[in-house]
Amino acid sequence: MAALFWIYSFFDVWVLIFLKRRFIIDFSETSYFCSRYMREQKDQQRYIGEMGLPESGPSIIIIAGMHGNEPAGIYASEYVFDFIRKNGLKVNGFVTALKGNLPAIQKNVRFVDKDLNRLWTDEYLQSDDDSVREIAELKSLHTELNRLCQQTNGDCLLLDLHTFSAKSGIFAMPSGQTHARKIAGDLGVPFVNRLAQVLPNTAVNYYGSKGIDTLAFEAGNHEAHESVDNMISALFVTLVSAGCLDEGNIPGIDNHRNRLKQTANGLPQKMELVYRFTLEDASQFKMNPGYTNFQKITKGEHLANLNGEKVLAPLDGYMLMPLYQKIGSDGFFIVK
Ligand SMILES: [Zn+2]
Repeated sequence: MAALFWIYSFFDVWVLIFLKRRFIIDFSETSYFCSRYMREQKDQQRYIGEMGLPESGPSIIIIAGMHGNEPAGIYASEYVFDFIRKNGLKVNGFVTALKGNLPAIQKNVRFVDKDLNRLWTDEYLQSDDDSVREIAELKSLHTELNRLCQQTNGDCLLLDLHTFSAKSGIFAMPSGQTHARKIAGDLGVPFVNRLAQVLPNTAVNYYGSKGIDTLAFEAGNHEAHESVDNMISALFVTLVSAGCLDEGNIPGIDNHRNRLKQTANGLPQKMELVYRFTLEDASQFKMNPGYTNFQKITKGEHLANLNGEKVLAPLDGYMLMPLYQKIGSDGFFIVK
């Protein structure tokens, strides 16, 4: 009995020490971490984190996992938030990271009923169709994005993080706004003009058309751990470029810039979209193996098969986003 009492007392003391430590850690640090902590308790799913003060500068909204089989952005955002907090970096403005398609993330699939990144229209935002689970995700994200953009006195930037099924080749897709294009330029990776405007009903396209600075970043293959590293580097460089972080305070910022530059592998930074091969039914499409982003292709080259027929390159250029999964609305793009 005495032994049981001793064990109970010992356990109790450690519980108290643990609670005290949590209290000290969670509430004695900067205000942005308290804000983030409380937000996470309130909504453990949608929010990856938030930090800073809305009235102190621009509002940066990161969306990770718009496609549920692309979790790299979630890991990268968690890393960057933890790094900023642990190193006590000052944040100007307000940075928020949100998960995109929650039911799809849970199932690790691109989407459940419809591709969330092809639903960004006023019609879908007003739809009451509850047979498509992504409609609820769309509305929930839109409400949060509006709230976050309205609460800032400064610029609002939406950064949409993606990976792809091809093997390699990172790039950025800015909306038409000068500020978004400037940030894309600072990343030091190829960015493709007009692509964001041509891809139908994407978040970048929708918010860009409403005058909000938007930028999609394609970090690498879905499965590659380098995709997470590339996103971490892109997040730091973007936060510096947008004025949220002072680069002099970020240990290793040059390494982040070098990583992006080296991964871009000497490709021209500004490219134009010249061709898009759209698909009605991706299950009947088979890309020939081995194509990567920005691989040179020549007119007449046999690129893929659709319904048993050859698909040939209609012109010279560079391959972009060849489809190596059985789901999607575009077989490939050609840029120059
Ligand atoms: Zn994606």
